[in-house]
Amino acid sequence: WDAIAALSEFMQDTSTTSSLRTVPPDPSTSGNFADFDVSDPKRAFEAFRKMKPKIPPPEMLPCANVDVEKYKVCQKQGTKACSACKLVSYCSKECQKNHWRIHKHDCKNRLKSNDWKPAWVVESRLPMSFFSKPGDGSPMQADELSKGISLWGNVPAIDLINLGKNENDASQDLSIALVASGDLRHVVQTINSLPDDYSGHLEVLINDATLPVVARNMAILLILGTVSDETMAADIALHFWYSVFIPAEYGNNILAIVTSALLRETQEPQPLGPRSSMSCLIPAEAMEFFRRFGSIASISMADAQNEYDRVRTASYRGDFRDRMYAKLKPSHRVAFQEFRRFGIVLPFGAANAHFNIPNASLFSLDGKWLQTDYADPLEGWDIGPILEAGRAHGAQPEDIYGCLYFFLSDQLRTFARRLREFWISFHVVTTEAIHLSSIIREDILSPLGIPASTRFDRIEVSNILDVNYVGIGDVLTHWGPLLKDSRTAALVGYFMNWAFLQPNGDAQSAGHIEIKKIIDTFIEKGRFPNIRPGGRVSDPRDLQIGLFLAANEMNVVYDNSKAFSQFLKQQNLENLLRKTKLKLRTTRTIVPHRYRVPLDAAPNAVPEFPDNESWYNSVRYAASIFHVDGTLCRVWSCV
Ligand SMILES: [Zn+2]
Ligand SMILES: [Zn+2]
Repeated sequence: WDAIAALSEFMQDTSTTSSLRTVPPDPSTSGNFADFDVSDPKRAFEAFRKMKPKIPPPEMLPCANVDVEKYKVCQKQGTKACSACKLVSYCSKECQKNHWRIHKHDCKNRLKSNDWKPAWVVESRLPMSFFSKPGDGSPMQADELSKGISLWGNVPAIDLINLGKNENDASQDLSIALVASGDLRHVVQTINSLPDDYSGHLEVLINDATLPVVARNMAILLILGTVSDETMAADIALHFWYSVFIPAEYGNNILAIVTSALLRETQEPQPLGPRSSMSCLIPAEAMEFFRRFGSIASISMADAQNEYDRVRTASYRGDFRDRMYAKLKPSHRVAFQEFRRFGIVLPFGAANAHFNIPNASLFSLDGKWLQTDYADPLEGWDIGPILEAGRAHGAQPEDIYGCLYFFLSDQLRTFARRLREFWISFHVVTTEAIHLSSIIREDILSPLGIPASTRFDRIEVSNILDVNYVGIGDVLTHWGPLLKDSRTAALVGYFMNWAFLQPNGDAQSAGHIEIKKIIDTFIEKGRFPNIRPGGRVSDPRDLQIGLFLAANEMNVVYDNSKAFSQFLKQQNLENLLRKTKLKLRTTRTIVPHRYRVPLDAAPNAVPEFPDNESWYNSVRYAASIFHVDGTLCRVWSCV
């Protein structure tokens, strides 16, 4: 692969600007590329690596007095929230007054009105997907819109080791495998959850069958492990992971980082800091993806924005979007809409005019949006710590993507630091999950540092347990023997669609008595939007909205443990366990029996919510985003 050609191509295209963005790129931030000598890529990359965006990553919530047209930014911290929306904060009354000219458009957004109703209510008709269960109907339409690949995860991040509850030894060497990893959120959560004094050697095998996923994971590890300034490392990785547009300076950094790694003339693993490293086995096609990372030659600003708009605002998906908005508080509707318009993870009021090139890694080689039309970064993480991080950095809960920004920034800084302090060896592979177990046994991955004798402390199989995927039989038969012979070793995975297949698996199929019981509790506790306890409504249409939304949310408090046991029985689990010498765990030490219950909860426990605020925070974002409720993912492990 010709780095020089890529570089020249890249440099030619830096003049590309878009007429579509409401926030114009700052012409002064694109850098002066004429200074770089194309024939000496090493020196050019060194210069690229030193480039920093005009506006540094915010440490605390910045004052929202930003005049994008004039590239003017108030440098102070935003401490006084706009009382009407709480989406933005200012340093002073003056700044708030000066900014009202711009902010009023958001603050008086139609979606922020308390009277806002979904279009199907206003037009007195049934919503388009009223009778479809979550999980069917909509994904098919979504696939027509885009590629439907998941780059941000479908269940919140899991700490796969949970050292304190398992090995409980900070010097223990550990080996974990993520055989259908998706993005890196489980890896980040697992490593960040280790104790500060962890001194063991950690081996992490990361595999996914989808090439764009693997190429992105490699780039993120390279960024976090090789950018010397942790703050910059975290910020570049954050936006490369989650933002549809990134600063041109970050693009240059990413291009330099990825290219330098690919141009290394040694077979030694790539160092990630002084102690950690990464080895990989990837096909040549991956180069096509790496070549595009950080380069705007592959997709123009205008094409990227057009494609993002096309997917996010498709008219026939209006009811689907309204169903999401209808569950949210008014300011959250505006926050979600903002992300669907610009796709940048930053505080609502932060300057973003310098995000002036597309993040090509989120688009296919032919320029299509890779994910679904409802893909959302909030899907991959627990909401509690997100709101906490927001509070710690001065962001209001209403500014949910601002909270997410500070959460991710904290997490990725910690992760970057741990790459430097801990001894971690990453091995990145891309193949089918079952094939991976075979090539380990055949000793093909020895050069990578994974000999045939390797046994793992944890094997995370994601939802390939699902019947329509690999299925539990093949997963246990092929991966069971690769589990370490130890009391703490575990295979962790989840089912995402079992509840639709199993009688009584979800609340809707459980019958009228069960449904009525749940609805009565919801009404009694005031958990319907706009329906007060006792069922009093000021507008009869609110009842319709409430009932419609409850169809999804009932599952959160519905006990489906019996149905799950029956499901496992029908999967022939007993025989499988005998054959593979595995055991189904009754006491959980890694993941609980179901999402949002404590680790030591009984199998039939359902999540509890102390108040309606915690109910809203735990259920609304997630349920508004998940097409499958978190509750349907019965997590399962064995030893
Ligand atoms: Zn100010
Ligand atoms: Zn406001």
